Amino acid sequence: MQQLQKQALRLRRAILANLGLFLNVFLCLLAAQLGYFIIDAQLVFLLVTGMWLGHLCLVLVIYFSKNLTFQDASLTLLQMLWVIIGLSLLMTVMQEIRPLVLMGYLLVMLFGTFRMGLKEIYAVTAFTLVCYLTSLCVIYLQRPVDIQVTQEFFIFCGFAFVLTGFVFMAMEFNYLRNNLGQRHRELKGALARISDLAIKDELTGLYNRRHLLEMLVQQRALANRSQYRFVVCYLDLDHFKKVNDQYGHPFGDRVLTAFARLIDASLREVDIGARMGGEEFVLILTDTDLNAAYGVCQRIQEKWSEQSFSGAQLPPLTLSAGIAEFNVPESVGLLLERADKLLYQAKNSGRNCIVMEQPGAQVPFNFEEA
Ligand code: GH3
Ligand code: MG
Ligand code: MG
Repeated sequence: MQQLQKQALRLRRAILANLGLFLNVFLCLLAAQLGYFIIDAQLVFLLVTGMWLGHLCLVLVIYFSKNLTFQDASLTLLQMLWVIIGLSLLMTVMQEIRPLVLMGYLLVMLFGTFRMGLKEIYAVTAFTLVCYLTSLCVIYLQRPVDIQVTQEFFIFCGFAFVLTGFVFMAMEFNYLRNNLGQRHRELKGALARISDLAIKDELTGLYNRRHLLEMLVQQRALANRSQYRFVVCYLDLDHFKKVNDQYGHPFGDRVLTAFARLIDASLREVDIGARMGGEEFVLILTDTDLNAAYGVCQRIQEKWSEQSFSGAQLPPLTLSAGIAEFNVPESVGLLLERADKLLYQAKNSGRNCIVMEQPGAQVPFNFEEA
């Protein structure tokens, strides 16, 4: 999920929780108006308002994206602990509506069940029980008549039982979430592999013919609307068939892969190297003129002649190349055809040869007339 979407979800959850707390403040205010609290209406009101305002601070932390530095960016644990402490304090001063406080605890647990890991859920459950017990003790110390130990014991057991149910639910959610996460990662990996296969040559890892044509169309569009220039080099390994015949197809594959690595290492990041098929490769050298392209091909030719393969006594490795500069506004097909023709000339000249068209041989194109 995108970071922005995640942040929006966190904010939505926190605002919802905060609205719930605000409702709590409103209810307490109403109860106080009706004279319901026998202990201290003002204290109750202060407590619920403090609880709400404290939580509002957490909402603002998320709103201003200050939560992103936290390990738990959703601040779920922090929100839960804050409200649990608030509810426990509230219970000590409004013993009369303790069932509502208990339900509040459960709501808080539900809030976290979908998001937290198991360790956190265990910790929050234990923390809730301790808070509840502490509040009971405080009530007992202040107003022993309010506490009937046997009844409290059963209520506590029931409460602990329900919380255990939440823990089981959280375990189930965790399992589903992990499973889903795993599937998601697998799917993402598969998608990346498929996308890679769609544009790359399986054997050499260079771009495939289809992607090369797409790149050429882009380069052509760029060159057609500005003074931008690019060059295409058509490379072909000489007498490659002999390598296959002598050492077998798998060894031939090794040679092709090594040549692809050499191309990869010889190009800049902005250039494109592709395998057209068989032992034919095409380079797109961006923002480059013919002389510079000739230099690149020469370097590749030189390095290729130095290449050695363990377990094989190969004759000198040579290649031939044809180099053509894009001629505005010719088609991509025509450009490739011109480069291929130059390659053909190189082959006819005895191979191990680079032929480029004459610099300046292109017909200047007048953009204004076009
Ligand atoms: P030239 O100097 O005229 O280019 O001769 P060549 O032998 O290099 O060219 P030719 O077109 O006669 O033969 C190309 C060979 O490349 C024939 C084919 O078996 C081989 N080839 C094509 N694709 C692959 C491949 O993926 N792996 C291997 N090992 N060989 C391949
Ligand atoms: Mg060849
Ligand atoms: Mg060939």
